[in-house]
Amino acid sequence: MWMPSLDLATGLWARMRRTLYTLFSRLSRAAQRFWMSRAYFPVLLTVSAAFMAAGEPVYGVAALGCIVIWLLAACPDLLAPVCPFFMAFLMSSQCYGQLTDFLPCAALVPPLLVALLWHFAVWPVTLRIGRSGLGLALVSIATLLGGCDVISRKQAMEPLSLYYTLGLGVGMLVLYVLFRSHLTEKRSYDLHRRFAEIFCALGLCMALAVLLAYGKAWLAEGHIGGVLYLSYRNFATSVLLTALPMPFYLSLRHRGHLATAAVLALGTCAAYGGIPAAKGSVTEAMGTGAMLKQAGIKTPVVNIPGCPPQPDWIVGTIALALQKIKEKGLEAGLAEVVSLLDSEGRPLPFYGRNVHENCPYLGKYDEGKFSATFTEKDGCRYDLGCKGPGAYCDSFERKWNGVNWCVANAICIGCTEPSFPDGQSPFYSN
Ligand code: SF4
Ligand code: SF4
Repeated sequence: MWMPSLDLATGLWARMRRTLYTLFSRLSRAAQRFWMSRAYFPVLLTVSAAFMAAGEPVYGVAALGCIVIWLLAACPDLLAPVCPFFMAFLMSSQCYGQLTDFLPCAALVPPLLVALLWHFAVWPVTLRIGRSGLGLALVSIATLLGGCDVISRKQAMEPLSLYYTLGLGVGMLVLYVLFRSHLTEKRSYDLHRRFAEIFCALGLCMALAVLLAYGKAWLAEGHIGGVLYLSYRNFATSVLLTALPMPFYLSLRHRGHLATAAVLALGTCAAYGGIPAAKGSVTEAMGTGAMLKQAGIKTPVVNIPGCPPQPDWIVGTIALALQKIKEKGLEAGLAEVVSLLDSEGRPLPFYGRNVHENCPYLGKYDEGKFSATFTEKDGCRYDLGCKGPGAYCDSFERKWNGVNWCVANAICIGCTEPSFPDGQSPFYSN
């Protein structure tokens, strides 16, 4: 290894070694400071966003590639280049059809390999293969052989095929061995948190890419006529779904902000578990209040259930809370909001009245006049499965979009109740 002992030897070679060593030490300190600084994610996101917005993904990949090379060569932590590397990958995936445009970036491959070798020469690790090694090796072999089908040699040499075979087939396995070996080393920060932050940043980057695609379509057409076709939709979905739980994970690990304010749980799933927690679910999903209780967090939860909740219930509750906080301060204002909740944590101004007792068909119910079909409009809907007697909300008066409400054309399915959907099923019989 060339790293010199800083002896006092004179002569040109010794002076050159000392200069190079000082230069490398400075680069290395700068790389470590950048990796551990608050600027790390904002800088990477800004670089990605700027090149994506300018429509210059090739230059963007090159810029991120240079950052990867710098961090790989100068930062002892192998996790540091991961985020810019995947942001570059994410940017190139938006151009599936024109991967040949990225050929100039191939010039970065030799310095990248040199930086990788340099990294392991300066900071050597013992190679380790974990339990996932065999499974990943099999997936790599399958990918190299062309996946579920057999591909010709010509097809195998196409840029898109190489993207998959070299990226997924070989790259994934190499990355796995490197990180499996490296991440077992002790470090001064919380590794799980750092991983979650990296996934959050990648999710944000992908969300930005999708937003920009919609923005560009809007600028070009003057309107957005439905869901946009994105060639990288599968990749985008994978990244977004992987990133989605990370903010919750980070919130749970850093509870300070959760402990100082109230939480609004919007929709029946967030409030009580709803459909994801219904019978047969294996997700262990639960409502926000139950989850905070389980984690020992005493933050008050305001539930705004409904499937979906009326926008007025959401905006009205926020406006009510802001008004009370303005009048009485944070603590007393929130205490007053909490005093306006029913036993299920719902604001009484919106959920305080029973649907059945306020239904225009109540007279028909009392007379025993029941509709047998949805098109019969002059009878109570109880026989059709209406759950109004056990449901609380003000849709009968507020109406959806100010036009009509659930019972007018169908039935109440009790969507604002903690027992929804299991306790309200079957929907169409009583
Ligand atoms: S339609 Fe439903 S809510 Fe209305 S009176 Fe009949 S049972 Fe009650
Ligand atoms: S009337 Fe029934 S179904 Fe309609 S919003 Fe209220 S609880 Fe939900």
